[in-house]
Amino acid sequence: MHRERLYRTEAIILKRSDFGEADRLLTLYTPKLGKIRAIAKGVRKPTSRKSGHVELFTHSQLLIAKGRNLDIVTQAETIHAFRLLREDLLRTTYAYYAAELIDLFVEEGIENRPLFNLLLAMLGWLSEASDLDLTTRFFELHLLSLLGYRPQLFQCVACRRQIEPATNFFSPADGGILCANCGENHRGAKEITLTALKVLRFLQTRDYDTCCRLHLSPPLHRELEKVMYDYITYILERSLKSVKFLNTLRRQRIGSG
Ligand SMILES: [Zn+2]
Repeated sequence: MHRERLYRTEAIILKRSDFGEADRLLTLYTPKLGKIRAIAKGVRKPTSRKSGHVELFTHSQLLIAKGRNLDIVTQAETIHAFRLLREDLLRTTYAYYAAELIDLFVEEGIENRPLFNLLLAMLGWLSEASDLDLTTRFFELHLLSLLGYRPQLFQCVACRRQIEPATNFFSPADGGILCANCGENHRGAKEITLTALKVLRFLQTRDYDTCCRLHLSPPLHRELEKVMYDYITYILERSLKSVKFLNTLRRQRIGSG
């Protein structure tokens, strides 16, 4: 008889896909092991006792057996269910975006406990927040900082001068703000209003409880979303499925009045 090697870990379920006849392949984010993948056997059967503990966005305690190819979840127990994130379609979409960002930004097996803590906090915030866009911008800025992509928002990334209170530019390729002089005719740099810049600085440097008290107009929200999305897709060199879905959802909501 061969001996199984078991390990125990907390995990957030980032992604799951069908595997075999009744199994699921899970992508998990853990505090110590970073991103890992494991099979949850039999969880698509209606009688499965494990299935509720390995739902998308659930924070669970898992016991995992090392497999020859893929590891196997042998026990699962929910710590936080974040039920609302699966029941409210809009909240689901934002949670899907947060999970997709983690999945695309991190390689398997790299520990980043502050990032795990940020994601865990994010799932709680998304369960309650009234302004999901604001919460998401906060999450993006702090995720970027924790991964070494913190955008420079206080001085010009080209000439290093302090940014003047005027319309400046954001350059995804340069990772931050360009002053009015350097940004003019700079390839890929787009104008950013002073208000948008101030909000990004505020979100980058304050804690969540302070930030979630901000009230932003819809046009300002759209501007901030565009700046962050341009920057994130520049780094990742790809678009995000969850954002396409979010935009479809928004159009349908407008269409249905
Ligand atoms: Zn400059």
